[in-house]
Amino acid sequence: MKKLNVVYNDNYDIPLPEGHRFVGTKFSDLYNFIKNSNLYTNLTIHQSNSAPINDVQVVHNSDYVLNVKEGNLSRDQERRINLPWSARLAKRSFLAIQGTLQTSQLALDYGIACHLAGGTHHAFKDCGSGFCVFNDLAYASITLLNQKKINKILILDLDVHQGDGTASICENIDNIFTCSIHCKNNFPFDKKNSNLDVPIDDEVDDVKYINILTKTLDQIESNFTPDIVFYDAGVDVHSDDDLGNLNLTDHGIKKRDEIVCEYFKEKKIPLCTVIGGGYSKNRQELASRHFSIFETVSKTYL
Ligand SMILES: [Zn+2]
Repeated sequence: MKKLNVVYNDNYDIPLPEGHRFVGTKFSDLYNFIKNSNLYTNLTIHQSNSAPINDVQVVHNSDYVLNVKEGNLSRDQERRINLPWSARLAKRSFLAIQGTLQTSQLALDYGIACHLAGGTHHAFKDCGSGFCVFNDLAYASITLLNQKKINKILILDLDVHQGDGTASICENIDNIFTCSIHCKNNFPFDKKNSNLDVPIDDEVDDVKYINILTKTLDQIESNFTPDIVFYDAGVDVHSDDDLGNLNLTDHGIKKRDEIVCEYFKEKKIPLCTVIGGGYSKNRQELASRHFSIFETVSKTYL
């Protein structure tokens, strides 16, 4: 029986004060959800390692990386990230970006791999933003290119928010194609330029969304043929998400993930998935939404 490679770490959760709008336990909640599902026996779980500081400094500003590590962020920087600094936050930030890199390396070896975190697409070169400390998508992409393992990378960001940090960091790197389909009237309000931005209106539903996605995939195909795809499968496109303004149902998210998986599987292009954003006070509900990509990947690839 073929197994699905999944990357996780027990230290992914983020300690937060009560009432904080980010669900800091969502990583272990998702892990436990998967553990109690019938997918679990078909998975090979890999623990992520900590990203070497020198490697992170290739992608992010050296001082910023040090300030994250040592807890020397300015009040403004911390406010912009919107997560209180803690030694655990610093530690998990180095683990999570390496986790996405490890997942991408497994994807190159096996055609598919999934990270049980990632999608911190608002982090810029010299600062974090919107619950994102370091940018795992940019870090993994740039590291893979520097390792000269592959030439061309597509970052397909279907989180409801624009991947502004990713667009900015990767702006002048021709070998990385960034595509973001996002809600126009939502954070970040100062949008950056991805290679392909598809801003969509509030209240877009399953049918409209799937139509937009299909057209976008065709548009990418006529511009760029990647050696690997990073897929940010954010579930904040759901109608009940606290921070999204779209109207997708569970079925719509499932359909979206199926289309992406089948599209790249058919083309034999390795796919690395990250969970991206999802905001619901109901922890079980949130875990079940993030579970969707693991279910769809298992169904498509195993
Ligand atoms: Zn988001």
